[in-house]
Amino acid sequence: MMEAGTVFTTVSLMMLANGGVLAVVSRDLPSTLRPAATYWQLGTLLIAVGCAFFAFGETLPRPIMLLAANGLIVFGLTAYHAAVQQFDGIHPRAWQLIPAILASACVFWFSAVNPDFRVRIAVVSTIWIWLMSACLWTLLASSHGDSSLSRKILIGNFALVLAYTLGRGVAYLAMDLSSDFAVETGANWLNLLSPIFMTLLPVVGTTAFLLMCSDKLRRQFEIAASTDYLTGLPNRRVLATHGINKFVSAQKHGADFAVAILDIDNFKAINDAYGHDVGDEVLVEVAGRLRERIGTFGMVARTGGEEFTVLLSGLDHIMAADAIERMRFAVEQAQVGDGMSRIPVTVSAGVAVYSSEDGAFEDMLRRADMALYSAKARGRNCVEVALQTANPALTRGVNCVQ
Ligand code: GH3
Ligand code: MG
Ligand code: MG
Repeated sequence: MMEAGTVFTTVSLMMLANGGVLAVVSRDLPSTLRPAATYWQLGTLLIAVGCAFFAFGETLPRPIMLLAANGLIVFGLTAYHAAVQQFDGIHPRAWQLIPAILASACVFWFSAVNPDFRVRIAVVSTIWIWLMSACLWTLLASSHGDSSLSRKILIGNFALVLAYTLGRGVAYLAMDLSSDFAVETGANWLNLLSPIFMTLLPVVGTTAFLLMCSDKLRRQFEIAASTDYLTGLPNRRVLATHGINKFVSAQKHGADFAVAILDIDNFKAINDAYGHDVGDEVLVEVAGRLRERIGTFGMVARTGGEEFTVLLSGLDHIMAADAIERMRFAVEQAQVGDGMSRIPVTVSAGVAVYSSEDGAFEDMLRRADMALYSAKARGRNCVEVALQTANPALTRGVNCVQ
């Protein structure tokens, strides 16, 4: 029969190799992910060395070997918990070391002072289950924001090892084994199975953890590529995609669709008078107000320096013009100050409602831009609806300061 020691040797080498890969890869991770990767690496190293003590520890006094092997493994699992916490932005606490310290003390007591295999297995299994439940809890708690397959794999991994640990603990306790029973020999089939299950976290788990890191990076890049860094609004690229989709559905199904371009009035003067930083604050405030007002009717994007584009669905030309007028009013009411006084901030807007004469979304944008130009020309702080040659009755200006 294969010796459990051989299995332990093999698995600790596999774990060390995998931990080494993580060590190399984690150097390329951004600083936000490195602490989590370092904890995971530490966990893998501790568990690997713990397993190596089971494999090569027969020359050591048995309580020392048991303390080293079990202690390293429980501290390794504690490090895994810290890794998944760090990954989800939670700072691990020092008290989280208590279960591992307790488990190590119990292992030592019940092997050196009062040797009792049954108590040892009960304590170690309980602490393992506690630590893996903590990992599962953390992974599940943040899974609504990250539904990646890699997270699911890691959750499955922890769940499987937890179930095995529970089953193994119950089986050992039910087997009526002698108090000097040793888990690191080939005396029992469970002894051979344990190291194999132990590799799941350091080997398969490490791969899943690395994939989780790369999935998170990919999500961050996707968000960065579609979001304006200053205001957090979608950028021009996202707006164009949505706009074209809405345009196509307006063409096909005759759905109400309007686009508006809003441009802050005399923004250069605000920058010149109060400085670029205050100008940025104005942009953030205006963006916030527009986002608040748009509600569920559409989307607002930052499509230029001080220019925002709004898509409105399900509103006819009157309702669309009124919606944009409410946005204009909301900006006018904004309280933006430089500490001393309130800075007057206004926007002008041009609205274009879909017309069957528009051949493409760009045609609507062009008409909205022309209406904006005319709103500026009429004195700013007003909303102008674009002329539709097919139906001139649809043209109207709203609240234009003459
Ligand atoms: P108008 O009413 O005709 O639109 O006049 P305006 O001054 O708003 O328009 P203009 O195009 O002359 O100036 C826009 C200014 O917006 C110039 C540019 O420096 C500023 N700007 C563009 N992007 C940013 C930004 O991200 N932050 C700040 N603070 N200013 C910006
Ligand atoms: Mg402007
Ligand atoms: Mg402009």
